Amino acid sequence: MTEITRRAMLAGTAALAALAASPALAAAPQSGQQAPGFYRYKVGDLELTQLSDGAGTFPMPDHFVANVSNETAIAEAAKAYLAPAGKITVPFNPVLINTGSKLILIDTGNGAGPNPAVGRLLTNLAAAGYSPQQIDTVVISHLHPDHINGLHTKDGKLAFPNAEVLMPQADWAFWMSEENAAKAKEGMTKNYFTTIQKALADMKGHVAMYGWDKEIAPGVTSINTAGHTPGHTSFAVSSGKDKVFVQSDVTNIPAFFLRHPDWHVMFDNDPALAQKTRHRFYDMAASEKAIVVGYHFPFPAVGHVEKDGAGYRLVPVSWSGVV
Ligand SMILES: [Zn+2]
Repeated sequence: MTEITRRAMLAGTAALAALAASPALAAAPQSGQQAPGFYRYKVGDLELTQLSDGAGTFPMPDHFVANVSNETAIAEAAKAYLAPAGKITVPFNPVLINTGSKLILIDTGNGAGPNPAVGRLLTNLAAAGYSPQQIDTVVISHLHPDHINGLHTKDGKLAFPNAEVLMPQADWAFWMSEENAAKAKEGMTKNYFTTIQKALADMKGHVAMYGWDKEIAPGVTSINTAGHTPGHTSFAVSSGKDKVFVQSDVTNIPAFFLRHPDWHVMFDNDPALAQKTRHRFYDMAASEKAIVVGYHFPFPAVGHVEKDGAGYRLVPVSWSGVV
């Protein structure tokens, strides 16, 4: 050991001893709280903010993947390091678009409820510096409860009182029909009808309908991605030569359904059509090398989708400290 490093080491040891004696090194209380979940990025002149509504963890339901065995699904979860074992975590990520003069929110999350892990949209919206009163337009991708329940506050008031609410025509026609509700199979689909019709009962006069292949809000074009539901819609959000695809629920969690696009999540209304849509949508996104935003992707839920063998692979964007 040279004299210099020996001296430096001795000095270091002395400094450590001094620090250890210092009351400033007293244990800090653990927080037990997560940081606010929002993430901003630019698309041309638009500023987008991913807003986490949280993530729900639940025991893997029987037939979560409708067309493979639970054993296979659980093994795949382990292969993808999804934890805890035997459970599944589904995140929820609405998107806010600030055009400079308008605020457009795509999907509204689960609404506040007894589970503190979800229903965090309004908290994270506030953390991102916006009030619900400022939202001009709410665009709903499809009428499933995890996308519409946030339209109302805990006490049943409109969460975004000044916003125009846009719904996909085909989904509204399907889910709000008493006739369809009456003939729905007992179980999940029947429950969906009950929940959706209850959640939207007071909105009949307050919503406007949109169709596909139209610019439904500044920079936001609707894309037919039916299958998950009859009116399920994705969006191209573009400004200048920049564009991202907000896919909504073309897949649920990518570890299963991007990897295996022919696997059917139990929530798909028309599984065969949803599967066809997945291939069409991701082949397009992969060939365009486009950024894809996934409602159920891990936060901040933004990445590229690459072809990978018979399936696809999500390459998440890197966190950026500047917008
Ligand atoms: Zn969903």
